[in-house]
Amino acid sequence: MITQSERGHMKAVLFYQHGGPEVLQYADFPTPEPKAGEVLVRLRAAALNRMDVMVRNGWPGLKLEMPHINGADGAGEVAALGEGVTEFQIGDRVVINANLGCGRCDFCLAGEDHRCRNWHLLGETVRGTYAEYVTLPARQLYRLPPDFDFHQAAAAALVYQTAWHSLITRGGLRAGETVLIVGAGGGVNTASLQIAKLAGARVIVVGSNARKLEKAAALGADILIDRSKEEDWSKAVFLASGKRGVDVVVDNVGTTFMQSLRTLRKGGRLLTVGNSGGPRFEIDNRYIFARHLSIIGSTMSPIRDFVEVMNLVVSGKLQPVIDSTFPLREAAKAQERLWNGENFGKITLEIG
Ligand code: ZN
Repeated sequence: MITQSERGHMKAVLFYQHGGPEVLQYADFPTPEPKAGEVLVRLRAAALNRMDVMVRNGWPGLKLEMPHINGADGAGEVAALGEGVTEFQIGDRVVINANLGCGRCDFCLAGEDHRCRNWHLLGETVRGTYAEYVTLPARQLYRLPPDFDFHQAAAAALVYQTAWHSLITRGGLRAGETVLIVGAGGGVNTASLQIAKLAGARVIVVGSNARKLEKAAALGADILIDRSKEEDWSKAVFLASGKRGVDVVVDNVGTTFMQSLRTLRKGGRLLTVGNSGGPRFEIDNRYIFARHLSIIGSTMSPIRDFVEVMNLVVSGKLQPVIDSTFPLREAAKAQERLWNGENFGKITLEIG
């Protein structure tokens, strides 16, 4: 058992100014103390998201308390309890829900904590999981079975809750529908592919190369389209759907919206949770009203979706794809791999 005074300082990967991977430092930082209602988690694994690199680079208007610590995803053991926490015990194995609602506003009280009026995302505006310890309100933690792997848990949390909320809760995906996923390798896309198959949908994946498409096929993708060979992939998707059009498109690229909209049947839905290709682009509005299309945006999920999808993860019905694991001190190298799109699935950090 480690006492509070022995904890004192922890190792973390932090930055004092925005910039490239060179701003990340592996250094000592004071171990946070759990306040009332909070839990101190000794992290054993963290997982990367593209958001980490965007926060590190910074954007106009982003004001962080420096130094900042990246990281939304993490799993580990409960190391200390703040006043009033009774639902966890020291040593419990937990995974973190990074969607931080205030717990008090009308949205949070209605179970819509992902729409909180004072919403935060762990690692974005609040110090995150590239560290040995983090403190969080107890409601942010999901208890893992004793033998469940920390890396699998950390790799699952953000992408599965995001994909589940988008596809199932918001998108209303049903068995027998056809889903197009634009992009093969990203964490949300591999999670979307697995969730769509679990829901009984047929899945078409458009990918950038044969290597990534092979891996998508191994996860159950029914139809593969290689955009390095298929100049007009939206036409190829339309033909693959028997000239009917697909029911749902998962498009987290953004700049590909026009191609995605062209693949939809009348009344189809385009789901989006991100914009890896950039935030601004043009849309021909005629495609939306004349074809009765819906564009459905969301980010993260309410706690109940997180619990529902983590239940499927710990029972093995959804198995996160881990691309690679780096030691915490090599977080900069891990971020480069992610940002360059060299990964298929999640990249995790080992926190010794
Ligand atoms: Zn709230």
